[in-house]
Amino acid sequence: MSAGTSTALGDGTVGVDVGGTWLRVRTGDVTERRTAPSLLNHPGLSTSELTDLLLDELLLVAEPGGRVVVSLGAAMNDLTSRVYGSAPLWGDARLRRDLVGELRLRRPDTGWCVHNDVTCALADFAASVANEGHRHVGYLTVSSGIALKVADLPARRIVVDGNGLQGEVGHMKTPVPADVPYLLGLDCDCGGTGHLASISAGPAIPRVAKALGMSGFEPGTFAARLSANDPEAAALLRVVTYPVAEMIRWLWATQPLLDLLGIGGGVAEGLTEHFEHALHEHLEAETNYSDAGGVRGRSAIRVLRPGAVDPIRGAERMADGFLTVVTS
Ligand SMILES: [Zn+2]
Repeated sequence: MSAGTSTALGDGTVGVDVGGTWLRVRTGDVTERRTAPSLLNHPGLSTSELTDLLLDELLLVAEPGGRVVVSLGAAMNDLTSRVYGSAPLWGDARLRRDLVGELRLRRPDTGWCVHNDVTCALADFAASVANEGHRHVGYLTVSSGIALKVADLPARRIVVDGNGLQGEVGHMKTPVPADVPYLLGLDCDCGGTGHLASISAGPAIPRVAKALGMSGFEPGTFAARLSANDPEAAALLRVVTYPVAEMIRWLWATQPLLDLLGIGGGVAEGLTEHFEHALHEHLEAETNYSDAGGVRGRSAIRVLRPGAVDPIRGAERMADGFLTVVTS
């Protein structure tokens, strides 16, 4: 498929996007949404029961001689398809089963291509900008979690570590604005504190609002309040985008080949131009003599509009070999 905006999959391919809330299945250009078999939706079920339900859903869409391409919202080895875990899907459980191995064993007549959802989003984003002449292109998701992946676009490669991972930045310690150091004490969904995700991820934002003394903050009205120039909402946005901007500064300082970073996910896409504006404000502030902010300029980041990047289309691009995962 070309780098267009069509979401239709090729003949014989079924695409599945497994998230914590929804499981979306696409055949051709028809996408059906089902409740995800996740801990989030079924808090009473065990990890074993939940993984059985997920396997049943995936086996159901398999066709003899066809292939199933999956974008999986879980930390996983992108080389071997071994799945490590996912807080929305299975809580803090570390998976012992080889999910993709079981799929291949039970339905060997179907081709199974399963990748991490950020990898799939990166593939779709990179394909959409493939003709713009960038060297390295990254995709950062700011949603219920925060994660990053970077591809060497001319070589069409994603380099991962020995565990098949790259860019798991969400649970790293983060700086916060100097006037609100107490935010570092807020809990993260992983059980830690002071993490990037404990300030900037979707579930963290109401907690940050409460800590800042904003009463009655509603995530659903955040964008509307920003559009209405509500100063309290603007102050909250400045705080929750600060760690993301600092992380981008680190990237710019250490990754000279990173020409473009796409930023998607529910939080970024939900606030779009507000989110982009707040990031630019942080990045254009001078912090030290080697500051890269002014050098990279506004074109080095792109906050994506809702739906601009499609993980199922990205899963198909991975299956087609648009990007290859390698260790060196
Ligand atoms: Zn954390």
